[in-house]
Amino acid sequence: MTYADFYQESIRQPEKFWDREAQLIDWHRPYQQVLDTSCPPFARWFVGGETNLCHNAVDRWLRTQPDQPALIAISTETNTEKTYSFAELHAEVQRMAAIMQSLGVKQGDRVLIYMPMIAEAAFAMLACARIGAVHSVVFGGFASKSLATRIDDAQPVLIVSADAGMRGGKAVPYKPLLDEAIAAADHPPQHVLLVNRGLDTMNLVSDRDVDYATLRAQYINAQVPVTWLESNAMSYVLYTSGTTGKPKGVQRDVGGYAVALAASMKHIYCGNPGETYFATSDIGWVVGHSYIVYGPLIAGMATIMYEGTPIRPDAGIWWSIVEKYKVTRMFSAPTAIRVLKKHPPELMKKYDLSSLKALYLAGEPLDETTSDWIAGELGVPIIDNYWQTETGWPILSVACGVEHKDTRLGSPGVAMYGYNVCIINESTGAECGAGEKGVVAIRGPLPPGCMQTVYGDDQRFVNTYWSNFAQEQLYSTFDWGIRDADGYYFILGRTDDVINVAGHRLGTREIEESISSHAQVSEVAVVGVEDKLKGQVAVAFAILKHPELAATLEQKLALEGEVMAVVVRQLGAVARPARVHFVTMLPKTRSGKLLRRSIQAICEGRDAGDLTTIEDPSSLVQIKAAVSA
Ligand code: ATP
Ligand code: MG
Repeated sequence: MTYADFYQESIRQPEKFWDREAQLIDWHRPYQQVLDTSCPPFARWFVGGETNLCHNAVDRWLRTQPDQPALIAISTETNTEKTYSFAELHAEVQRMAAIMQSLGVKQGDRVLIYMPMIAEAAFAMLACARIGAVHSVVFGGFASKSLATRIDDAQPVLIVSADAGMRGGKAVPYKPLLDEAIAAADHPPQHVLLVNRGLDTMNLVSDRDVDYATLRAQYINAQVPVTWLESNAMSYVLYTSGTTGKPKGVQRDVGGYAVALAASMKHIYCGNPGETYFATSDIGWVVGHSYIVYGPLIAGMATIMYEGTPIRPDAGIWWSIVEKYKVTRMFSAPTAIRVLKKHPPELMKKYDLSSLKALYLAGEPLDETTSDWIAGELGVPIIDNYWQTETGWPILSVACGVEHKDTRLGSPGVAMYGYNVCIINESTGAECGAGEKGVVAIRGPLPPGCMQTVYGDDQRFVNTYWSNFAQEQLYSTFDWGIRDADGYYFILGRTDDVINVAGHRLGTREIEESISSHAQVSEVAVVGVEDKLKGQVAVAFAILKHPELAATLEQKLALEGEVMAVVVRQLGAVARPARVHFVTMLPKTRSGKLLRRSIQAICEGRDAGDLTTIEDPSSLVQIKAAVSA
């Protein structure tokens, strides 16, 4: 079957299409209806069917491959490595589930998971899924303020946490931040379950805090049967990265999500039982949910959970893992590849990477330089995939499991099956033709696996995502894009990131791409800054490949002029940045996304926003210094 036929069927006959895909998972009770769209824009998939995510990820494989590796937990921070077979994972998840039940967790209750990348975090997620509790994983790098707002939004009965995480060889205490967050929250949990890694001393609050190891020993032989859940029951709540503003609580179902992941593992990620998948993300992000924990296990693959940085003990660490565990499919982000690119490539060549079939990258635009470099080093296809926390799995990519399709440089690919993607003219609401720029939108119903609603706020779901276009109720991605004549899409940045210079609307992303083409520039951020005369002007912050070449003021000015000239040549004089500052670091979210919002705030003399979501706040000091110089 060609991909075009496959795609067309998914759009024209979604019920037939997804009825077939639904056979990829186990159902305890068959569904009565594939799709219910009686209340748009809400979509309900596999109505009346009963299934369970934990059953499909774990129990299902006990019959055929109980002793195959399921979860491989590697920490280069504590120098530990442990493989759990499907049978062992099953036992651990049941212990965790029994502990949760003993602490009063019932079906539908929320459990907040604030943990480092250790096996117990996956046990906790799977245990929730097993007993029908709703997990809300909060990225372990967030400090007490971000955590407190998420506690109040999710109102968990239990929080699962640990004494500390570790990063770059240093312990990062979790417990004190958690205590602070609970003290600040209006809805403190009844209990806190703590994994003691021996990294930091912990003071247990009596009647509230309990020690995991003690309870685990007590429930060592626990058997906790799977709770069968109606397909549309809630599986989890996960907050978006907060790159553009207040994070939204994305709520997901059970059956639709399981089917969507199983299908994506087959058609997009092409993973088979017995193989090993390595996603370098964190369980605090959607990639961690879909492609560290659930997706690979649902496909019967072993999945790697990695605690550590990509460059410790050296930049060869990920490749040594690929060699040792014969990883076939790897998933990372462009930001991580850019980090590796700064290190000697010999480190990569040391390892036998012949098991690796493809590298998938997502989360932010993949620039050609990065893509070319890593493709050359690895000699495997580099597959860009574009999606959002909201969708849970790729909107745009290439589905190699259906038909081999070439990737196109600069494009994350074509519309994935199930997504009726369109480009909409922002002001008229009309659909754009090939080559015309507009907002990337999706015509409902959204396919299985996508968000059901904003947790606790159906109206916000409708208002935020489905009320942006004049002519039709469509889902907005809030990203600019363009589709070429062959159906390949190009993402041109976020709709927030448009600036208006003397009446001309310019995407900051386009200016960034132009600046990146200067041979000396390794990374750049462009923001729009208020200007009395022109409305807004573009201001650029660039990281140089060789900072020593811009040591003196004269050199800086010369280089600034060169960069401006590149932009003028490529995009025209209106796009010329008013200033090009040189820095050595840019502010990013903890998930590695550029925080243009904070840069812009500083340029306009405003507050930079919630600093706890910024990876390294000292990057802001540089921006401030550059702006005031
Ligand atoms: P928030 O919605 O809270 O502002 P966020 O949008 O960064 O945060 P995510 O859901 O983690 O939260 O990120 C999804 C966004 O990341 C997409 O809408 C898009 O802007 C960007 N993105 C993801 N993958 C790609 C890709 N392959 N190419 C270009 N952009 C991408
Ligand atoms: Mg977003």
